[in-house]
Amino acid sequence: MRMILVGPPGAGKGTQAQRLVDTFQIPHISSGDMLRAAVKEGTDLGKAADGFMKAGQLVPDEVVIGMILERIAKPDCAKGFMLDGFPRTIPQAEALDAAMTAAGVTLDVVLMIEVPDALIVERGVGRRNDPETGRIYHVKFDPPPPEIADRLVHRKDDTEEAITKRLTYYHDWTAPILPLYEQKGLLRRVDGVGTPDEVKARITATLAN
Ligand code: AMP
Repeated sequence: MRMILVGPPGAGKGTQAQRLVDTFQIPHISSGDMLRAAVKEGTDLGKAADGFMKAGQLVPDEVVIGMILERIAKPDCAKGFMLDGFPRTIPQAEALDAAMTAAGVTLDVVLMIEVPDALIVERGVGRRNDPETGRIYHVKFDPPPPEIADRLVHRKDDTEEAITKRLTYYHDWTAPILPLYEQKGLLRRVDGVGTPDEVKARITATLAN
């Protein structure tokens, strides 16, 4: 299974990806997670990405494309992968398409998780990430157990200002990739409003069709 998860920031892509990889036994490849790890390690890639990420802007295509194409060429992706947060622009979608064609593999599905703009800021500012397990919580909608509260991280780009900027980038740069996949009959839309379990059930039903 080769799939892409797409949706606005805070749509639940990371939350659902964690649940879906268990079902499909394929690697979850999150461009945001890879970039955050590079920033933490202080690599050249991380240094190039840091300022853009803090400001809620997109990291330049050439940086992200190289990182992802290298990652999906690794042996653990031979049977499939779940991309989360990539592609986010038309040049990224085109580069992915060209690399997959050259490798003789095809995409199975592009799953779009839809959440209205009005909900996005509230979801983002309340989001908390557990660095130990990778699990994503929300202070109101999916509260963490009190004993782990101290170790949770609030992403630097989950402020109201950065989320609003990321949402604008989503509409201006990412939404235009959707018709490319719609024309190929690969796009499936799922309502992302509800609990993580409710959304997962919708995704499972959609993928079963
Ligand atoms: P995410 O974790 O997917 O919300 O990504 C966090 C941030 O990483 C984004 O706001 C961008 O600054 C950067 N980023 C992640 N994926 C990409 C991408 N495909 N293209 C450009 N920037 C990206």
